[in-house]
Amino acid sequence: MLLHSYKIARTLPCLADPMKIRVIAEVSEEIQEVFPYLNAVLKGCIYNHPANTLTIRKDQKLITLHALHITLAKIEDEKEAEDILKWLKNLINETFESRAGIEPNYSMAAELKALDMFKLLPGTNCKKCGEPSCLAFAVKLVGRDAEITKCDPLFSDPFQEKRKVLFELLKAAGYDIQNTYGQPPNGRI
Ligand code: SF4
Repeated sequence: MLLHSYKIARTLPCLADPMKIRVIAEVSEEIQEVFPYLNAVLKGCIYNHPANTLTIRKDQKLITLHALHITLAKIEDEKEAEDILKWLKNLINETFESRAGIEPNYSMAAELKALDMFKLLPGTNCKKCGEPSCLAFAVKLVGRDAEITKCDPLFSDPFQEKRKVLFELLKAAGYDIQNTYGQPPNGRI
């Protein structure tokens, strides 16, 4: 077992969402050895090997692992933080125990930029996605707070080429297009 225990050390206001909290938990052992293995088995991680950090997104929560602590952002309350930490401890230990059969991945996922996403959206600000503008939608898309399928006009024929590029960028950044967004309308990636 790599990680025996953890404890919540601090609870702070969340910088990304003022209605939620940020939690810092200390871990009983250094856990960085498992990062390249988690990076190999989980989709959409951001691994910074030189800085020894691994960021995971789970249900729109942001989880950043450091050698001796874990930060959780966009958390509802301490109960949710405890549930996530329990899940994380099992994940870390199971992955570490299976590491002989996992090819470690030291690469960093391509970083998505809202402006790049915006340039590939229809640009009509039609609000059909529920956002006030295409730029607002792009920002949410990058933060994984919106689903690409909500932009209905993108799935019309004139945007076929842009749509292909946009989906390639999402895939390169580790977004699971099929599972995260469901089957795109008519399968028209
Ligand atoms: S539905 Fe698409 S085109 Fe319309 S505002 Fe939203 S992102 Fe822009």
